[in-house]
Amino acid sequence: RRDVLVAHHLSKAYPVRRGLFSRGVVQALNDVSLSVAAGSTLGVVGESGCGKSTLARQLTLIETPSAGELFIEGQRLDASLDRHARAALRRRVQMVFQNPLASLNPRKTVEQILAEPLAINTTLDGAARRARVAAMLEQVGLRPEHAQRYPHMFSGGQRQRVAIARAMILEPALIVADEPVSALDVSIQAQVLNLFRDLQQRFGTSYVFITHNLDVVSYLADRVMVMYLGRVVESGDTATLFARPRHPYTQVLMAATPSLSRSRRDAEATHAPLPGEPPSPLEPPPGCPFHRRCAWAVPRCVSEVPPLREVDGRTVACHRAEETVRLG
Ligand code: SF4
Ligand code: MG
Repeated sequence: RRDVLVAHHLSKAYPVRRGLFSRGVVQALNDVSLSVAAGSTLGVVGESGCGKSTLARQLTLIETPSAGELFIEGQRLDASLDRHARAALRRRVQMVFQNPLASLNPRKTVEQILAEPLAINTTLDGAARRARVAAMLEQVGLRPEHAQRYPHMFSGGQRQRVAIARAMILEPALIVADEPVSALDVSIQAQVLNLFRDLQQRFGTSYVFITHNLDVVSYLADRVMVMYLGRVVESGDTATLFARPRHPYTQVLMAATPSLSRSRRDAEATHAPLPGEPPSPLEPPPGCPFHRRCAWAVPRCVSEVPPLREVDGRTVACHRAEETVRLG
């Protein structure tokens, strides 16, 4: 299948103030490469501060990476693109945020919110736009009369459906969803995940699904990328990673997800907490970024950054990746 999104060696540094007179940079994203095949889902997981949202802002062209290359449907994003070409590419990638209330204009009706991208980007007249909006509302499980309501009049789950409808209305190639269900009631989360899955089947849309929730990833993602402190530490197809995680960080993330542990009948790991806090991106540790929390760490881990390499059918950045599969 063709790739709708390819990123090579993306990095993003932000300037920060370190004290009264000194400035530095925080490396929020460090040499991240990925690709997303048409109609597939890439799950991006990690704790808060791992660079997931920074990645989302680069992939949706909200920000410009400090280094690296981005291709959308084979077209390279670069400074030589004129405004029109850039806008055309930007339309192909839409975003769904965690909090739909913050991302939907409270003074506009749902019809106005959904019709706006059509007015800007298509030649459809008013009647055709309204028809398209009504059809899209149906696709996301809302009713035609919802078009005249304002965002605050909906439940959280319905509002996220509106946000998804807005992201889908121009039939983008890719949606980047940043924690799109984590603000919803648990009882609603599965419905919204099912909606994402149904829309993908109907429209062939690709997703980058950013979440701290591994259950969500195991449910939706074809491939998984695990991030830690701005870097990719492990990536591969979902079944492989969940069956045999090789990076010690992926292993503790999975052990800390009770339902996954249960499904893997891994009783001993069910209550394993994630040891310690992630280090501050302001003071990244030398060597392997995970070494201070890693049960497998050896002296080499403190001095040498482990490169990403192929081990056992996935890509992993750990000096000891050959040894880390748990016995039993
Ligand atoms: Fe642990 Fe060393 Fe592997 Fe890093 S490189 S995850 S510290 S064993
Ligand atoms: Mg975030």
